[in-house]
Amino acid sequence: MEVLERQKSWKLLTLEALVKRLPENDGGEFSFYKDMHVSQRKGYGGEVCVDQMWNEMNIPNPYYLFHGFETVNRAGNSHQIDTICLTPQFIWLLEIKDIGGRIDIDESKHQMIRTKQEGVIESFKNPIDQVKRHAEFVKRKLRDFQLNLPVEYAVIFVSDYTIIGSIPKGAPIFHASGLQTELDKLFNKHRESSLSSPQLEKLKIELLNMHQCKQWKAKVDVHRLRKGVLCKSCDYKSVMKYEHGSFKCVKCGFKCKAAYVEALSDYRYLFGEWISNQGLREYLGVESRHAIKRIIQKINLEQTGTFRNRKYRIPDFLSFDHKNNVESVKKDTSHR
Ligand SMILES: [Zn+2]
Repeated sequence: MEVLERQKSWKLLTLEALVKRLPENDGGEFSFYKDMHVSQRKGYGGEVCVDQMWNEMNIPNPYYLFHGFETVNRAGNSHQIDTICLTPQFIWLLEIKDIGGRIDIDESKHQMIRTKQEGVIESFKNPIDQVKRHAEFVKRKLRDFQLNLPVEYAVIFVSDYTIIGSIPKGAPIFHASGLQTELDKLFNKHRESSLSSPQLEKLKIELLNMHQCKQWKAKVDVHRLRKGVLCKSCDYKSVMKYEHGSFKCVKCGFKCKAAYVEALSDYRYLFGEWISNQGLREYLGVESRHAIKRIIQKINLEQTGTFRNRKYRIPDFLSFDHKNNVESVKKDTSHR
């Protein structure tokens, strides 16, 4: 049973907003963040791909899946564990890699080398070190909770075309297609339950409580970012103007009532969560106070302060707490 659904990371959401709003003639800075965005998006796509494989697997009940688990340890450093599979017999931590070419891991040098088909060689963080670090953290946590549960870990390569070359003997590294087989092996290795039913439930809740997404800020001068509601149909190259209750692209004429939602989401990740009425009007390019009031009411923005000091909080439109907002926005979009 899936208890934590994967969400886009703060970093990916920020980069998505950034590549839309950084002026392209910025040269180096634009291409730097564009490349970072491509690589983050690829990683996310690979993780989602593996998540879907769990739906077809045979797993003895009860079990809990946490996708995209993030937490912060005592030293203030973060642990991002791609997937956790919690069972009464063991807890399994997975590091998911979507890297093509040939992979070789040299344990003595703690490095992973990727050789592309055309012969280009690159060095990456050793994923075994990464997942071992998570395992040590989870072991410490289990001790804190006074639970005695075996901790297992593995590194999974998403693409069947990745060639897994020389790796340390017995290292748990395999293609995603081997997920079921490797899981079966673990159930064979750990036949006895180490947790009672209440202990399993308690641990599930503790893990969910520990989950906390790490914020990420790009090192850019935000004053230079493009403002306004940008047109999706024009690949965000042109702005949309507000007229008669809807946003209309000045270039292609595409109309969308709810186009401001994406613009507000960009604001949240690039500038901050809180915005004033004046700030909203300037950012969205809506002159009418009444129109802005209607928008605020429609998405039911949380507010603080009074009169001139009033500020509105832009919610995370993509998080599950705001499903209702997204639903109403979808309805709006379909009426365009
Ligand atoms: Zn357009």
